[in-house]
Amino acid sequence: MPSDNALSIVWIYPDLLSTYGDQGNVLVLEERARRRGIPVQTVHVRSSDPVPEYGHIYLIGGGEDRPQILGAQRLKRDPGLRRALDRGAAMLAVCAGYQIMGSVFGGEEGQPVEGVGILDISSGRGQGRAVGELVAETAPELGVPTLTGFENHMGVTHLGPGVRPLSRTVVGTGNGDGTEGCYAGKVIGTYLHGPALARNPGLADLLLRWIVGPELPPIDDTWHERLRAERLAAVRP
Ligand code: GLN
Repeated sequence: MPSDNALSIVWIYPDLLSTYGDQGNVLVLEERARRRGIPVQTVHVRSSDPVPEYGHIYLIGGGEDRPQILGAQRLKRDPGLRRALDRGAAMLAVCAGYQIMGSVFGGEEGQPVEGVGILDISSGRGQGRAVGELVAETAPELGVPTLTGFENHMGVTHLGPGVRPLSRTVVGTGNGDGTEGCYAGKVIGTYLHGPALARNPGLADLLLRWIVGPELPPIDDTWHERLRAERLAAVRP
């Protein structure tokens, strides 16, 4: 168990799922908590190990098709994540990790592979690979500025009635239907790499607010803002 008052971050399967710098999501969350005086304890859970139930924020990244299938099989047998989410934990799932959270996703030959069923989504293979910068307008109720990131995936994702779109795409593919990512309760899924939380510190703060409460002291975001401005200027129509 983490010590009292520490924010517990759980990074699921870094040995299988961590492409395009997704581990940066862990670093950004840790840093933004610590700069607010919140102590942090992070656990890296390899795919051979059980997912702990005591975490506050769970992160899972993207990956190639085969590690994604392996990751889904292992996570399906492990009750830790579901128990944590039932207890009120938050989660950010990226790309392969996002698809795994649904009922089904496309394997390396396009074959349907069962997901863990935490999000009401289903994914399959699209017509071609979606590669490049992504810009999307975040759902207004979330109060998070325009999303910027990088995507590289074959999958397209259908959102069921149990989730809401995280954003509407301006540039890029996202889910493949004009929306990008989704959320339900405190679980966010997205195709954004970059890493997502370095490009979108507002998303990191949303996860933190869900756990530590609404009053998060402001912090200096100069470097994040420079990165965002540069990336948004490069792709905005
Ligand atoms: N293998 C999945 C796809 O191609 C996820 C890719 C990724 O995580 N970058 O859709």
